[in-house]
Amino acid sequence: MTAAPAIRWLKRGRLFVGASSGLIDIPGLGHAYTTRLGGVSPRPYATLNLQLKDGEDRANRVAMNRQLLAEALDIRADRFVTADQVHGDTVTVVDAPGHAPACDALITMTRGLPLLIQVADCLPVVIADPAGRALAAVHCGWRGIASGIAVKAARQLAGLAECPVSDLVVGIGPGIGPCCFTVHEDVTVPLAAAVPTGPAPIERDGRLFINLAGTLTAQLLAAGISTVSTGNVCNACKPEMFYSYRRESGKTGRQGVVAWLA
Ligand SMILES: [Zn+2]
Repeated sequence: MTAAPAIRWLKRGRLFVGASSGLIDIPGLGHAYTTRLGGVSPRPYATLNLQLKDGEDRANRVAMNRQLLAEALDIRADRFVTADQVHGDTVTVVDAPGHAPACDALITMTRGLPLLIQVADCLPVVIADPAGRALAAVHCGWRGIASGIAVKAARQLAGLAECPVSDLVVGIGPGIGPCCFTVHEDVTVPLAAAVPTGPAPIERDGRLFINLAGTLTAQLLAAGISTVSTGNVCNACKPEMFYSYRRESGKTGRQGVVAWLA
């Protein structure tokens, strides 16, 4: 495994976005992990909430946030593809803007079609082939790992890009870390079954904590993917920068990842 350093963070206009070091050299591939900074939504969604679903955060504000994001990244807001994310294992190949029903992974080979995955504890994941022919954006929480959605998306992408799975490059963005993700055995048991090579749960003060990004990395490695960048950034520890569904008991916005083939 290549232990690529991390996520590089930079200011883009009024926004602050991150990029996985392992993905930035792929020709024609753009991607950005977003933070909550630089948008127009009020509390508790302040400020760059990307999720339209929250009735209390008006749709026009979320549309404005997506517009600000598009401008900062020099892409088109009217070309976004979003997904009705359901913690399942469905992978959808898209070639036009819009909202994909019930799926947690989007794949495209179409240029100028930004895929937008939203998270607030789960991991935003980008997968690409080294020639930049195809791209996947995946919403991956513990259920996603247990169902193997990232590996499923990777295999499908490799087929489309006509390259071996082992050549793929994966970036894992900010999600809840082992410092904050306390769970019970209803989570640790299916995760250990799905990823026997993954890190063991950490016991602290009589509670169990799991390393989601480490587990996903182990799963990808076991599937033959050798280049995985993870920033090890815990969104739940950084309330000024990121939303966290657990930290805010559900009343919060969504950051995410945008990825596109230019
Ligand atoms: Zn944390």
